[in-house]
Amino acid sequence: MSDIKTYEYVWLDGFKPEPSLRSKVKATDLRGTDKGEMNDSMPPKWSFDGSSTQQAEGGSSDCLLIPVQKYDNPTNPDHLVMCEVLAADSSVHPSNTRVAAAEVATDEWWFGFEQEYFFTNPDGSPLGWEDGEPRAQGDYYCGVGADNVAGREISEMHLQACLDAGINLTGTNAEVALGQWEYQCFGKGVKAGDDLWMSRYLLYKIAEEYGVGVNIHPKPKKGDWNGSGMHANFSNEEMRTAGSKELFHSMCDKLGAVHEEGIASYGSDNDQRLTGLHETQKITEFSYGVSDRGASIRIPVYTVEHDWNGYLEDRRPASNADPYKIIAHIVGTLTK
Ligand code: MG
Repeated sequence: MSDIKTYEYVWLDGFKPEPSLRSKVKATDLRGTDKGEMNDSMPPKWSFDGSSTQQAEGGSSDCLLIPVQKYDNPTNPDHLVMCEVLAADSSVHPSNTRVAAAEVATDEWWFGFEQEYFFTNPDGSPLGWEDGEPRAQGDYYCGVGADNVAGREISEMHLQACLDAGINLTGTNAEVALGQWEYQCFGKGVKAGDDLWMSRYLLYKIAEEYGVGVNIHPKPKKGDWNGSGMHANFSNEEMRTAGSKELFHSMCDKLGAVHEEGIASYGSDNDQRLTGLHETQKITEFSYGVSDRGASIRIPVYTVEHDWNGYLEDRRPASNADPYKIIAHIVGTLTK
């Protein structure tokens, strides 16, 4: 049997305002010369040409890939590896948003991200929109039937691939617009961000096999069509086990006091989505309320019914937000 193992290194590039995902595959013999660099849990460091990813100038373009999270992969390659990017001198690269999240987010912080997105045709139109704009919204959310749903097979493949990789997807559903979907991704500490990025990577890659694209822009279709968000549910130990109305209100107030800073961390073009319509609060306003889907932060009925022990749902993050920035903002604000 071959001792060659294959690792798909995944990282975030230097594109703005949001990074894109990049990857390359390393095949390595654990018995061979690489062994000295291996520890038990992680494959070796690697490097790439940062001048091709807007992470370096051409003259001195090496950037370093530092594996931080490894996932089993039932198909090829053997493992998926989430990486941080360092500059050639081993300093933290400006594109590396993970470091700030890892500094503040211990595993007592739990996150449930509700990732919404559209599948797209090669011309960029949403899947199912080949013959022009479909019937108005109404039949598509959690719908069934060929005239109501587009892309289910890919969504189901993606769910299974994530579960096989040990990424804790807790559900999927067809969304309000035709071709729009959601999945929910649960994780603890900074790994919640790693898992969300890797789940996106798998979504793009699996859809690629079908010749289908993925669009995570918060408002891909103007007009009376829902945008895409990434509601961020979160809690810490105190919220789950020693909560009170005062605690939850004070947390909402703290986040409200830095609303603009939050919006800056919650994805670009979010003003096109946070309009006060389609179950959103206006981007210029901050509010919170029990069971209020028109608020910036919703206090779930679950939390109130459990004697104020539970979680909060920040409804502001856009679908294209960097989960590391969300984690850094929420935990950073609430632990100050
Ligand atoms: Mg949704």
